[in-house]
Amino acid sequence: MVTDVLADIWDKVLRHLQRRHSEQWRNWFEQVEPISLENGCLRIGVSDVSYLQYLKQECNESLREAAQQITGHLVTLEYELTDQDQLEQVLGGDVGLQVENCFYFSPDYTFDNFVVGPCNRLAHAACVAISESPGHAYNPLFIHGSVGLGKTHLLQAACQSLMEQRREVRVTYLSCEQFVNHFIEAVERGKLHDFRYKYRYVDMIVIDDVQFLSERERSQEEFFHTFNTLYQARKQIVLSADCSPAEIPKLEDRLVSRFNQGLVARIDAPDYETRMAIIHKKAQLRGIDPPGEVISLIARKVESNTRELEGALTKVHGMAMLDEGEITLELARQALGEEPASPRHQVSISQIIDVVTKHYGVRLSDLQGRRRSRSIALPRQVCMYMARELTNHSLEEIGGHFGGRDHTTVMHACRTVDKSCDNDPQMRATVNSLMGNVTQV
Ligand code: ADP
Ligand code: MG
Repeated sequence: MVTDVLADIWDKVLRHLQRRHSEQWRNWFEQVEPISLENGCLRIGVSDVSYLQYLKQECNESLREAAQQITGHLVTLEYELTDQDQLEQVLGGDVGLQVENCFYFSPDYTFDNFVVGPCNRLAHAACVAISESPGHAYNPLFIHGSVGLGKTHLLQAACQSLMEQRREVRVTYLSCEQFVNHFIEAVERGKLHDFRYKYRYVDMIVIDDVQFLSERERSQEEFFHTFNTLYQARKQIVLSADCSPAEIPKLEDRLVSRFNQGLVARIDAPDYETRMAIIHKKAQLRGIDPPGEVISLIARKVESNTRELEGALTKVHGMAMLDEGEITLELARQALGEEPASPRHQVSISQIIDVVTKHYGVRLSDLQGRRRSRSIALPRQVCMYMARELTNHSLEEIGGHFGGRDHTTVMHACRTVDKSCDNDPQMRATVNSLMGNVTQV
């Protein structure tokens, strides 16, 4: 049945993505469905608009590449929103949010995915409260804390939660930098009226990183009036910054006092237990389940901020993917210990050729020649595979190094090696050790 074939292809595409781009992988990918594959166009059905945007913005290239590898054909991707309610809202243009053109909410940034600990309890509770009754609980709500501690996550979670509960509300979320840029543009184009309408007629405005107002006098003035209009209309205002209102350099006193007039909540760096819980949560989202000892190793090693915790997890996971896919304490130690040279940036194709020709006892001219006997074809394919794995060269560029072969040949080579590694542990061991040798050079 065609649908079985499609399901099978899709399954392989997802596995491929998970292996090669583990940092993009999310646990909800299992809910994404292939609709059809016709004339080189793969249609993908997604139930939620934020999922759709995530796939489009974060994963499009890797998905397309994976689909091409698996099918051996050029593939374009199209995404379809399958939820009828959301589709009508999007088409009707009355989705409850006005987001800036290229902006979208991260599906990761929900309350469910936010770990609450002593460091962020107040900020979290306040965000939940305003998402339940905007304009009534705390106004304005001002959240501050240094970089990477979850301000943007909480702000977006509040927006998404409010919009889920009340589809009709108008929410504007933007960074302060966008606000300032729009303002400047509006002034230049004589469109202040439009600008004011856009920002003053909303139910909730959320402005991230307001420290950007520092030293920008005219923007502060405009911001002040926007603030007052919304405040008087009892609309919810939510702000974040990397320091408290009084600590923002060169911020007018009247703004400082406005910002202080509701609730000011600080987020601190997470303690050890919270860090453990965050890593666990992030691992779940990425569809992996590292052993507890690895989680606690990361939590011990990375104390600074949450973004770096994630980075460490990605590093460990990425390294495991190069091997058998098992995340062990040994491997995590290695990944987090001495920074190994990042293979993706440092390995060149000639290093790969060096290692491979030595191992198989062939010459470079053999690899570049036309011979197809297995004794030559195999090392050639292994080279292409390794170049694909370890360098940033395109398929075409890789083909160019091996006697001007085209990208489909390279794709075929990668698939063949991938498959034999799957079926033959010996082959996998060989390829892994060759890759290890190259990255050590
Ligand atoms: P900020 O805006 O404060 O610089 P972000 O909101 O961008 O920080 O957070 C950085 C990363 O850390 C994001 O991936 C976010 O999901 C994660 N993060 C921060 N705090 C938490 C938390 N308490 N629970 C889960 N993830 C968190
Ligand atoms: Mg932020």
